[in-house]
Amino acid sequence: MAKAILLLSGGLDSGLAGKILLSCGIEVTAVNATSPFCRCSGHGGGCAAAARMAAQLGIPLTTVAKGEAYWEIVKNPRFGRGSGVNPCIDCRIHVLSLAREIMEASGALFVATGEVLGQRPMSQHRRALSRIERESGLTGRLLRPLSARLFPPTEAERQGIVPRWKLLAIEGRSRRPQMELARELALGDYPCPAGGCLLTDPQFSCRVREMLAREPDSRLADAVLLIHGRHFRLPDGERVVIGRNEKDNRAIAGLARPGDALLVPAEGSGPTGLCRPGTEAAVRAAAGLVAGYGKSVTRLSLTRPGESLSRTLADFSPLAPEQAEPWRIACKEDPHRTEAKRLPSSPPPGGPGGDDPPR
Ligand code: SF4
Repeated sequence: MAKAILLLSGGLDSGLAGKILLSCGIEVTAVNATSPFCRCSGHGGGCAAAARMAAQLGIPLTTVAKGEAYWEIVKNPRFGRGSGVNPCIDCRIHVLSLAREIMEASGALFVATGEVLGQRPMSQHRRALSRIERESGLTGRLLRPLSARLFPPTEAERQGIVPRWKLLAIEGRSRRPQMELARELALGDYPCPAGGCLLTDPQFSCRVREMLAREPDSRLADAVLLIHGRHFRLPDGERVVIGRNEKDNRAIAGLARPGDALLVPAEGSGPTGLCRPGTEAAVRAAAGLVAGYGKSVTRLSLTRPGESLSRTLADFSPLAPEQAEPWRIACKEDPHRTEAKRLPSSPPPGGPGGDDPPR
């Protein structure tokens, strides 16, 4: 039986592509590529929607991480970005290159996707689809069953492994043909909206741009921190992250690394703060921020990852959120043309080191 690798997002289109391949008698293995920026994978874990879809199709699922190489792509995409910092064409090339490696290692004949011609403005127009096929090293071995009849036959069709008449000619942004096909093929449960990853989000893109400008050597783990909490840039360049809720607090504490300072209320509840790097002066400013966002936080416990001793801090002035605003990494009003706010060169009035204690 001929084998194929199916890129499975968990959304409807790739599920339908899988159904079509199975109806052709192909042995299909699904591959789901994850990154911390996936919206439906719990930030880096396996994608639950892809697992459900693979189970529904009755096919095995392999999960691969887009990895550190993906962050390098986000930093320097060869083929541009979308409306956010999403490097969709490079991302597809990367993911399909990973799928090609799995294909070659497993003896599969081709890779299939649920891509539809013209559905997505950046990566699914004809020229982009050709480029993605070529650059991923899959020329002639990339089958897009939903739109295949709008393209020249692939190797699998030429060899008669996949009958061309079973393939479709869906084009454009309407989802109606896929919905009808899902009913026809009795494919249900497709909860992943496939609305793009976090890199398409204007506010998140703003944070990423700021990181790319200020931390050019950042790594993927640094970018993961951007997913959680409120972010501030101190005048000397340190980053401070303040949790907004328990989930943020846990994530921020889990992402702390040697060189950072972690601040949590010494008693009662309140936000967790991370200061990177955790220099003494920056820690004092960060303490003011944490106390400003916490209710009645008067003492903070300071720990440093990799060091066993902790310290209690009480000599800081809480900084009200509106006073902290000049340090906040946020966007200007137009979310589609985002730009990190101009960073202050000196502390805000009444802030750490200021004369007038806030609140
Ligand atoms: S939206 Fe995100 S995951 Fe999807 S192709 Fe673009 S960069 Fe990749």
